[in-house]
Amino acid sequence: MNNDLHDAPFDLIFDRATVIDGTGAPSYVADVAISGDRIGMIGDLSDRAAVRRVDAKGLILSPGFIDVHTHQDNALLVGPEMAPSVSQGITTIVTGNCGISLAPLVRDTVPAPLDLLVSGTSGPFIFSTFAAYLDAVRSASPAVNAAPLVGHSTLRVAVMEDVTQPATDAEIEAMKALLDECMRAGAIGMSSGLFYPPARGSKADEVVALLEVVSAYGGVYTTHMRDEADAIMDSLDESFNTARSADVPLIISHHKCMGQRNFGRSVDTLARIDAAAEEQSIALDAYPYVAGSSSLLHDLAAKSSSTQITWSTPYPDLAGRTVTDIAAEWGISEDAAIDRLKPGGAIYHMMSQEDLDRIISHPKCMIGSDGLPHDKMPHPRLWGTFPRVLGHFCRERGLFPLEDIVRRMTQLPAQEYGLVDRGTLRVGAFADLVLFDADRVGDRATYDDPATPADGIEMVVVNGQQVGGTRRSGRVLTRQG
Ligand SMILES: [Zn+2]
Repeated sequence: MNNDLHDAPFDLIFDRATVIDGTGAPSYVADVAISGDRIGMIGDLSDRAAVRRVDAKGLILSPGFIDVHTHQDNALLVGPEMAPSVSQGITTIVTGNCGISLAPLVRDTVPAPLDLLVSGTSGPFIFSTFAAYLDAVRSASPAVNAAPLVGHSTLRVAVMEDVTQPATDAEIEAMKALLDECMRAGAIGMSSGLFYPPARGSKADEVVALLEVVSAYGGVYTTHMRDEADAIMDSLDESFNTARSADVPLIISHHKCMGQRNFGRSVDTLARIDAAAEEQSIALDAYPYVAGSSSLLHDLAAKSSSTQITWSTPYPDLAGRTVTDIAAEWGISEDAAIDRLKPGGAIYHMMSQEDLDRIISHPKCMIGSDGLPHDKMPHPRLWGTFPRVLGHFCRERGLFPLEDIVRRMTQLPAQEYGLVDRGTLRVGAFADLVLFDADRVGDRATYDDPATPADGIEMVVVNGQQVGGTRRSGRVLTRQG
């Protein structure tokens, strides 16, 4: 009797799955075995032993989706079952986008948009070091893996007297020291949100100085650009120059052309990105909706055809109503109504379908939900993003092949963010997997009923363990090499 390791039973075998491996290669039918936290074998495993078998006939088995754009830093701690993510087939999230991360910062109250991480409630910005935050995530044992970015605005709020100003040399040095601790603790890079008030005052030399720290550790730079409307071309150039000066890979966050008079400009922005990408590493992300969501801000409402409140500290019961509606009821202007409703959050209808279709079809466009998990009436992207791309954009409208969009949800982000042995379904890789029904997968979350799980996601596996009930097997994915 041969008793060697090769004959030990596998922990789990998916029988007759249609495998999409994340590389963009055509799908094929095979059995896939899991051994511990890794993929053990792929092929005809009908005579191999397994502790458990799952009949995957007719279903797609692919690497678990990587949500590259989230604000779930705090959700990992307070809602570690991560239902909005898991129900979409997501197995890894990137946190700390748009310049805002939960650490390193100790503060009771924070300016918008940092309040998005906690939706206006006071605290819990309680982590003076990034290492302490990552330890808290590990202790919470979330259901999905988390790859953390450090937010530039968080660093500014932590060290600066007046965040509306450019940082002084001393403040830049203080931010560099904080950032160095974050990168040593394992952060995968830095994000910026130059559009937002706490970062708008920063100059290129400040961002470059910080990115040089990121570069020394091999991290990435993601940016919510200074302008996604009239001055979008200048903002693209600023992003390219900054990343190139510090020699870091660049990711343009939630790319969009905002406001009606900028509709159609994605032809030019994508051409500019393609041209720059011949000289430096550039990728982008997008969510599959023509409405965005953020803090309640006048300059976003001004570009929006309709603004719907997602949360309001003074008027919590008005979440879900539009500003137009509320202003009419109060008999005041919409601007005055916004002032009364703040601090709060909103959904802004401000993009064109044509631009969205073009951007989300780009070969370097990854998918990021940008979901806001603590909002009372959140944008439906929190629960719907990945199934909406697979169902509505891929299957129903045929904008791209399934293998290509799975690649942009798995292998491409793993490569861009340096997530080793993730994002590809192959022997030896981590067993982060999603089993889904390509004929049925689709979003059900709507603007009126946003917290609705999607259809067609049959099973999710994180680090070899099926997610469900109290089983939570996510890890903190720190920067490697
Ligand atoms: Zn953003």
